Amino acid sequence: MKREAMLGRIRERTDPNAPWDIAVIGGGATGVGVAVDAASRGFDVVLVEAHDFGKGTSSRSTKLVHGGVRYLEQGNIPLVMSALKERGLLRQNAPHLVHDLAFVVPNYSWWEAPFYGIGLKLYDLLAGKYGFGTSKLLTREETLERLPALEPEELRGGVVYYDGQFDDARLLIHLAMTAVDHGAVLVNYCPATGLLLGEDGYVSGLTTCDSETGEELRIPARIVVNATGVFTDSVRRMADPAAETLVVTSQGIHLVFDRSFLSGETALMVPRTNDGRVLFVIPWHGHTVAGTTDTPIDAPSLEPRALEEEIDFILETAARYLSRPPRREDVLAVYAGLRPLVKGEGKTSTLSRDHVIHVDSSGLLTITGGKWTTYRHMAEDCVDHAITLGRLRDEPCRTRSLHIHGYVDALDEPLRDDEPLAVYGADAGAIRAIAAAEPALSARLHPDLPYIGAEVVWAAREEMSRSVEDALARRTRALFLNAGAAAAMAEPAARLLARELGRDDAWIAAQVNEFLTVARQYTVVRD
Ligand SMILES: Cc1cc2nc3c(=O)[nH]c(=O)nc-3n(C[C@H](O)[C@H](O)[C@H](O)COP(=O)(O)OP(=O)(O)OC[C@H]3O[C@@H](n4cnc5c(N)ncnc54)[C@H](O)[C@@H]3O)c2cc1C
Repeated sequence: MKREAMLGRIRERTDPNAPWDIAVIGGGATGVGVAVDAASRGFDVVLVEAHDFGKGTSSRSTKLVHGGVRYLEQGNIPLVMSALKERGLLRQNAPHLVHDLAFVVPNYSWWEAPFYGIGLKLYDLLAGKYGFGTSKLLTREETLERLPALEPEELRGGVVYYDGQFDDARLLIHLAMTAVDHGAVLVNYCPATGLLLGEDGYVSGLTTCDSETGEELRIPARIVVNATGVFTDSVRRMADPAAETLVVTSQGIHLVFDRSFLSGETALMVPRTNDGRVLFVIPWHGHTVAGTTDTPIDAPSLEPRALEEEIDFILETAARYLSRPPRREDVLAVYAGLRPLVKGEGKTSTLSRDHVIHVDSSGLLTITGGKWTTYRHMAEDCVDHAITLGRLRDEPCRTRSLHIHGYVDALDEPLRDDEPLAVYGADAGAIRAIAAAEPALSARLHPDLPYIGAEVVWAAREEMSRSVEDALARRTRALFLNAGAAAAMAEPAARLLARELGRDDAWIAAQVNEFLTVARQYTVVRD
């Protein structure tokens, strides 16, 4: 995935009489999923991302590949079944990135065991042949054995069930690489700046600008897909300034703590918090992640900030269930993400998580809503619509059994803390080779995190990492795990990137400054 080569292919293809089949705007799970689907069907695909792949919502999730126990309670059986099936397909196609995780719902009242026990049996049933494990009731002792960090007072027992867990930004990068492996062109730091209109008045492509050089480029395309998440309406208004609002935004935040707050390999699931939401406390990459919230937001931004009341809410709710209540000073990182929700009646927490395909009168094809877990199904639906709308040749979807970049046959224990390169799957060997060729690159960049210099070099050479933030937030997950440690890694990472990308000392200094500004937002104690 070489950026200059990608830009070269865009420059070669500006003749409106020889357009791309599909141009995608937005490099999150939705847009990159569409690029994978379309490229694997044999279409000519180009994707432009305004910032970095995954800079938006797709790196800021709860990291669950799940059917959504909550949607079961809302009675949305089709969404749960579709998500459970996608969960199974994703584990089959990316076993290096998706693994099973046991969740315990603790019971403190007499009615909870039968209530959640029956609900979770239905969850097992709906998964059918895509099941991850059978739920069962636990005694008080069994519950504490699985979750020793649980508050024991008045605990009666629990219910254990199984779902999937993943690394969202890593999967996204591997999906981008999958699309490239199938011939697609994907480029970051190239915002769509406008839509081209043909003589018939329909959208016939887009304009973009390389943020690094200021070069303007035209991309003619039979179909333009708008997959810009919470920015959906601003792109729709490039063609129709009067377009009605389709998407509303709701923020969810997560707090990250030391691993000791949740010892063991089991996650905690609180099915009903004070505000009627679900709270997860999960083990992830050797840390503990707790979230999330649901706060309506007026104006979306690329770097949303956690509100103080959201931080307090998670700390207070987690304290009710953990025997050692986490305090503000225990927070290693806080991150916020914005849900693109399809507009409807009622609170954002009750809005549907189904996806929506919308066609504007300009012919712009928009796909939005949905979940990370269902990205493949969303992409299939979107490309089916693109084929009809763009009069493309009929090609069947191939992603149901398409291996995702990095695929390796059955990993014994993917995502093991002592095997940090496991998430790279088949690429791990190449990273080890970089470290072997230059032993200094096998050293950790910070003692509290497993990341080594060779990963930054690999990110620059093969994964289109252009900045310290790309390398520390999305190619590795340092910023999301421990913002203080990530800040300390900024300078060594900048030096490695500068060497790879041919940058000077002024670039290094500017990169470190920029990253420190971003990293400050991922800490709860702010200047
Ligand atoms: C707090 C939270 C927790 C979640 N947890 C889970 C979970 O555990 N499991 C799950 O399945 N789902 C989860 N989700 C849902 C999931 O994360 C989202 O559905 C998914 O990431 C949305 O992806 P997207 O590609 O539509 O949007 P995004 O990831 O936001 O991508 C849109 C992209 O478009 C780009 N863009 C915008 N304007 C332009 C332009 N003009 N030109 C080019 N590019 C542009 C942006 O930079 C951005 O990268 C969660 C969501 C939130 C908010």
